[in-house]
Amino acid sequence: MFEKLSRRLHFGHFPTPLERLDRLSAYLNGPTVWIKRDDCTGLSLGGNKTRKLEFIMPRAIESGADTIITCGALQSNHARQTSAIAAKLGLNCYLLLRENPLVVNPDFRHGGNLLLDAIHDARIIRCSGDTDLAVELEKLAASLKEKGMKPFVIPGGGSDLFGTLGYVNAAIELSSQAHAAGVNFVDVILATGSGGTHAGLVAGFCLLGRAVPVRGISVGPTRADIEPAVFALATAAAHHVGPPCSVARSKIVVDDSYLGGGYGVVNDAVVEAVQLVARLEGILLDPVYTGKAMSGLIALIRAGRYKKSDHVVFIHTGGAPALFPYEAEMVASHHV
Ligand SMILES: *Cc1c(COP(=O)(O)O)cnc(C)c1O
Repeated sequence: MFEKLSRRLHFGHFPTPLERLDRLSAYLNGPTVWIKRDDCTGLSLGGNKTRKLEFIMPRAIESGADTIITCGALQSNHARQTSAIAAKLGLNCYLLLRENPLVVNPDFRHGGNLLLDAIHDARIIRCSGDTDLAVELEKLAASLKEKGMKPFVIPGGGSDLFGTLGYVNAAIELSSQAHAAGVNFVDVILATGSGGTHAGLVAGFCLLGRAVPVRGISVGPTRADIEPAVFALATAAAHHVGPPCSVARSKIVVDDSYLGGGYGVVNDAVVEAVQLVARLEGILLDPVYTGKAMSGLIALIRAGRYKKSDHVVFIHTGGAPALFPYEAEMVASHHV
């Protein structure tokens, strides 16, 4: 349908399932909640970065790179999926991973995604919490070039134009699944971090001519900081894919009411969301992204935002490997 979406590698398991969460919907006594299982993309325990990397990696290969460099938080899911695809493609991988001063639990500094990065043989460079990762990425690239290597830099979260195309594709996939299931979603809910996932979905629905509202729940940035970034990426992606479709600024909605203590900090609402979905549906969310986004969806349902006859879909963007370093928080209180 959209020719520009064909320049990609195929290593994920697609389409990911679209499932109905009957027990969660009944428990909340609200709309019918569906879940799009992008935690099941197949690459090293899955997650949303797999779709992005399918579109980013062809550029790395064309550039003649022998080394991939990217960055993130110590427990970055993006870094883990990048280390996996680098391994599969026979490329070296360097990860610049930043401490998170907001997280006091020392377990955060090992295990979880860090263990998986090491198993994939990524070289991990730890940085202090105040490091400007974009600047350090360029410095690292320059120093590897001096050593005769050919590095390719992927920005944090894989949120560049090509990464965003992965979620244009996801919007097309989700639309056809919704059509096949005979449902119209009144909201698509997801965790918004660096913004590429959100932007790609908005651009995809715009290109399809479908007015599906997308509501991002911020996991860190403020609304004022992230909405313009999502808008810029969505506009660029819609323009790149064509035929022309202009994304309205008003269609970019990021709700920053559920941040709690900030990025990576779990609160009772996040623990409740993770436990509810695990105990009612047998599905693992994560403490940093999907647990926080689901805490937002639960709060919106409890506040009466939806009718019982409505259908909403939650994008499960992955992240469960980070449950392990958050063990202390996750089992501290019981909600169900
Ligand atoms: C990276 C990530 C997100 C956020 O996606 P962005 O495109 O960076 O906004 C959401 N959930 C999980 C589990 C992630 O790893």
